[in-house]
Amino acid sequence: MSRNIQSVRGMNDILPDEAELWERFEEIVRSWLKSYGYRPIRLPIVEPTPLFARAIGAVTDIVEKEMYSFVDSLNGEPLTLRPEGTAGCVRAAIQHNLAAERPQRLYYSGPMFRHERPQKGRYRQFHQIGIEALGFTGPDIDAEHILMGARLWDDLGLDGIRLELNSLGQPEERARHRAELIEYFEEHEELLDEDARRRLHSNPLRILDSKNPAMQELIAGAPKLADHLGPESLAHFEGVQRVLRDVGIPYTINPRLVRGLDYYNLTVFEWVTDRLGAQGTVCAGGRFDGLVAQLGGKPTPACGFAMGVERLIALLSEGGGAPTALPVDAYIVHQGEAASRLAPRVAEGLRDQGLDVLLNCGGGSFKSQMKKADASGAPFAVIIGDDEANAGEVSLKPLREFGKGDGEFGSAQTRIAIDALAEAIIQSLLDEDES
Ligand code: ATP
Ligand code: MG
Repeated sequence: MSRNIQSVRGMNDILPDEAELWERFEEIVRSWLKSYGYRPIRLPIVEPTPLFARAIGAVTDIVEKEMYSFVDSLNGEPLTLRPEGTAGCVRAAIQHNLAAERPQRLYYSGPMFRHERPQKGRYRQFHQIGIEALGFTGPDIDAEHILMGARLWDDLGLDGIRLELNSLGQPEERARHRAELIEYFEEHEELLDEDARRRLHSNPLRILDSKNPAMQELIAGAPKLADHLGPESLAHFEGVQRVLRDVGIPYTINPRLVRGLDYYNLTVFEWVTDRLGAQGTVCAGGRFDGLVAQLGGKPTPACGFAMGVERLIALLSEGGGAPTALPVDAYIVHQGEAASRLAPRVAEGLRDQGLDVLLNCGGGSFKSQMKKADASGAPFAVIIGDDEANAGEVSLKPLREFGKGDGEFGSAQTRIAIDALAEAIIQSLLDEDES
C-alpha cells in the first residue's frame, strides 16, 4: 500500500494526452453551440442543499443517496456539490430575472458530483455540458435540441448513437397513470425487488426504469402512460416527431423512458450507444415546464439536455478517430551566453506573429536539445549558437520531410536573419498546407 496521497475514489485526473482530446472536444462543442445561438452561463459548483431536493425531487436516486452534502462550518448552512446543472441554472435565471424579457437559450459546462459506485463511464466527479431553453412552449424547441444532438455526433465523427424518445405527458395524466401503476404492482408485489417495493408508493414510475433483469417481464406488462395522454400532450409529441421525420432523424419511441429526475413533463429523450456497456446513455434531456415555478419563479416553460463528457470522450478515443492536438510550429535550441539571452526574444517575436513555440529550457548539449526538438513534433528547429547570435541571425532546420521536398530550405539548415524568421516559417507552413 502506498503512503502517497491518491485522488479521491471516482474522481479522476485528466492527464495531458487525454486533456488535449478534451480541449479539442470542447472547441467543437463551442462552435456547435454558437451555431445554434446558445449563450454561456457560468454557475457555482456549490449550491444550497434544499435547491436540489426541491428541483430534482426528494425521492430520486440523486437526492436520496448520491449527493455530496455538508454543512458550512462557519454558518451552519447546508450545502451540496452540484449533482447536475439544471437546478442551478434555473435558480440563477430566477434570481437574475433572465427569462422575463425574452426567451433564453443557455448552456453550461463543468464538473458534477454524485456519490455512486465508480465503474467505467460512471464516476463521482464527472463532467456535463448542458443546454437549457427558457420561455419556449412549442414542440419546435424540443425538436431543435434533438437536432442539435444529431449534429454534434456528426461534428465529432461519432456514429451508432441512437435516439430514444418518449412523452411523459402532463402531471394530471401522470397522476392517473400512477394510480393504475400502483394498483398493477400491488397485484404483483411478490415479484418486486427491494428497490421497487420502496418506490411503490413514493415513485412507482421509477420502477419502470429498473435495470433488474428479474423484473423486466413484469415491467413489460405494466400499464402504459401513453394510454393516458390527452390530445394536447399527443399533439406536442407529434409536433416533435414531425420535425424529426422532416429532417430525417431516426428515432425509436421507448415507452419506458421516464428519466430519473422528477421535473420532466412531455418530451423526454436519450441518446444511447451500445459501445459503452451498461453506461450507454451519452446525453439525456427533455421538457420541464413546471420547474421554474416550482423553484419560486414566474411560470416559464423550459427544456434542455445534458451530455456526459466522459462517455463521449470514451467513444471518441475508442473510435481511434480522435483528433490529436497539433504540435507547436517551432522548437528553439540555443547554447552559449549570447545565444541564450537572445533565445527568449526570438521566441516572443515568433509568438507575436501568431506562431506556437517551444523554447528549450534547462540547458543541455545541442545534441540533446535537438532530440527534444524532434520529440516535440515541431516541423522546425530554430538553432541559435553564439555565432548566429552575434550576427543577428538564427539557423532554421526543417525537422520533417516537407511534402514537395523542394522547399526553400530543403532538409538542410539555413542561416536566416531574425527579422525574416517568422515570415520564412509561416511561408513554409502555408506551402506545406497546399501540397
Ligand atoms: P444514469 O442512468 O446513467 O445514472 P442519469 O439519468 O443519472 O444517468 P442524467 O442525470 O440524465 O443521468 O445526466 C445526463 C448524462 O450525464 C447521462 O446521460 C450521462 O451521460 C452523464 N452521467 C450521469 N451520471 C454520471 C456519472 N456518475 N458519471 C459519468 N457520467 C454521468
Ligand atoms: Mg444516475
